[in-house]
Amino acid sequence: MQTNYVYPEFQEEDRDEPSVRPGLLEDFVGQDDIKEALTIAILSARKRNKSLDHVLFSGPPGLGKTTLAHIIAQEMHTAIESTSGPVLDRPGDLAALLTPLKDRDILFIDEIHRLSPVIEEILYPAMEDYTIDLLIGEGPSARTIQLPLERFTLVGATTRLGLLGSPFRDRFGIILRLDLYDPGELKVIITRSAGILGIPVTTEGSAEIACRSRGTPRIANRLLRRVYDYAVVRGTGCIDKEIADLALTALGVDSKGLDVLDRRILGIIANEFSGGPVGLKTISIAVGEDPRTIEDVYEPYLIRIGFLKRTNQGRIITGPAREHLGSHSSCDLSTFL
Ligand code: ADP
Repeated sequence: MQTNYVYPEFQEEDRDEPSVRPGLLEDFVGQDDIKEALTIAILSARKRNKSLDHVLFSGPPGLGKTTLAHIIAQEMHTAIESTSGPVLDRPGDLAALLTPLKDRDILFIDEIHRLSPVIEEILYPAMEDYTIDLLIGEGPSARTIQLPLERFTLVGATTRLGLLGSPFRDRFGIILRLDLYDPGELKVIITRSAGILGIPVTTEGSAEIACRSRGTPRIANRLLRRVYDYAVVRGTGCIDKEIADLALTALGVDSKGLDVLDRRILGIIANEFSGGPVGLKTISIAVGEDPRTIEDVYEPYLIRIGFLKRTNQGRIITGPAREHLGSHSSCDLSTFL
């Protein structure tokens, strides 16, 4: 049974998100290959007066999948309807979303890997032939009616491309994988958000936050706000390198951007399992965190910075991770985040 699971890391209310969320492709920082692929596809569809092919975005949370879905709608000059996989559990709900869509409109389904098989089956003909078959009534009097749909575009987002069956995946014409951002790109995002939100920040200040944002724009924006709170209360109200460092350390974010749970994951593998290999479930029980959160939110960054390796036998921590743990043994300062 799938539960309506929300990553605890990302429950914080995005107070000012509508204003910092880029509205056009040219404002979307980084992911150049993806922007190029989308630009070509959108311009071609617009020139031919056709709907855009169905698009599937994959990658860890907070990298811009939802943002890109809205950008597509904006660039295609169409409306967008949003929902998410776990919420859509009755065929009637899907029909209610699909039937009002107009030509070229976007249906965005977040966490699309969590759609029920029944809903997935109804989506197949909707994506291919722009029709849906609905079962009306029950028992012997039940009958199927076929409803025609306008040529809409389905935009799906998933943190788990591997959980999507190939018949479903193959029905998307454009499949794009978002990668973690490098600090240079995050610095641009932080500077842009600070400008929009009226937060004074020096170049070194945004660089410091960028290096400690786990390659993730959503975290960068969140840390920017938290560091600003700190700068207002403990400093002059301007974020420079020194105040950013003090604030992030007080928030429990270390020099590599690792938080309390990252260090617990690494610490447990190092100390209780002699460095690994150790299975995901065992780690999950030991740190008291959902295995999906560990796999989708924590591991991609730990792997990216070379602190963790996934092998067939389980997870292993690396030499640089051990060194880092040694130098940050007393860093569990706060639960402020
Ligand atoms: P996802 O759907 O992948 O979880 P979102 O699209 O919700 O991620 O992005 C989270 C936030 O991060 C957005 O509100 C936006 O402000 C910011 N963001 C994401 N990607 C970018 C980017 N490339 N440039 C600027 N801001 C971004």
